[in-house]
Amino acid sequence: MLIDLHTHSNRSDGTDTPSELIENAVAAGLDVVALTDHDSTVGWAEADEAAARAGVRLVHGIEISTQLDGQSVHLLGYEFDPDDAALLDELQHVLEGRDNRLPRILARLRDLGIDIHEPDVERWSGSAAASGRPHIADALIELGVVADRTEAFNRYLQPGRPGYVHRYATPLHEAVRLVAGAGGRAVIAHPWSRGSDRVVTPEVLAELQGLGLLGIEVDHNDHDETARSALRDIAAELDLVVTGSSDYHGTGKTDFELGCNTTAPDQLERLLSPRFGD
Ligand code: AMP
Ligand code: ZN
Ligand code: FE
Ligand code: FE
Repeated sequence: MLIDLHTHSNRSDGTDTPSELIENAVAAGLDVVALTDHDSTVGWAEADEAAARAGVRLVHGIEISTQLDGQSVHLLGYEFDPDDAALLDELQHVLEGRDNRLPRILARLRDLGIDIHEPDVERWSGSAAASGRPHIADALIELGVVADRTEAFNRYLQPGRPGYVHRYATPLHEAVRLVAGAGGRAVIAHPWSRGSDRVVTPEVLAELQGLGLLGIEVDHNDHDETARSALRDIAAELDLVVTGSSDYHGTGKTDFELGCNTTAPDQLERLLSPRFGD
């Protein structure tokens, strides 16, 4: 039983349509796949139809852009009410923050001599709920400025680089409360990637657990063996669910192939069990 609980379609910054994602999940031998686009559930309907056709089990999910002490932290939410007003309102705030940042990033890139404009980016973000940095990276690739998304982030788009512009992200504690309040299951995505080990401490995890956090994503390519083993110990100590996933983005991210990390069936069962979550 192969279970992958973190993937992206072109409704955010992946490159597969939700249907293609499901087809690729079947081809990869997955039995269960979660669609977790950034800050949006717009891909769920198409993925539902494709999953029913393909005979694969779809878990409805999202990856919310949050922050703690100025550090970006991603929160996965599963099987919540997509019409929950408080959650929708907050997601709208995040998506608008991302769209409003676009012209400011492009102005910075133009200051660096790169002739890049909004339509260059919208070619890549046309199916997405908002235009994010990965879409700007795609435009930079097409313009021949960089070879891939990683180079675009390393040279221009990540904090400390000249094209970086801050955007709004939900405070982490509030995001956990919102997912739980909408009847969903909250799991911290790659808790120790890109500097978030500084803020996602065992103490913070215990605090979040009190607000409804149910699990942490331990097996993720951003974690080395040492991090995975330490996170597994913390999860055991706190009795948190342990998940593993690919964070697949289609051709947008290499070496994050569907099923490259997976979640154990008993952990999925626990995560979605009514008694554990309620
Ligand atoms: P945004 O939410 O528009 O600021 O873009 C953030 C997204 O870009 C993340 O969710 C990742 O998918 C991707 N990303 C962030 N940092 C990097 C990086 N250093 N290299 C490649 N992709 C990144
Ligand atoms: Zn992404
Ligand atoms: Fe993430
Ligand atoms: Fe992700």
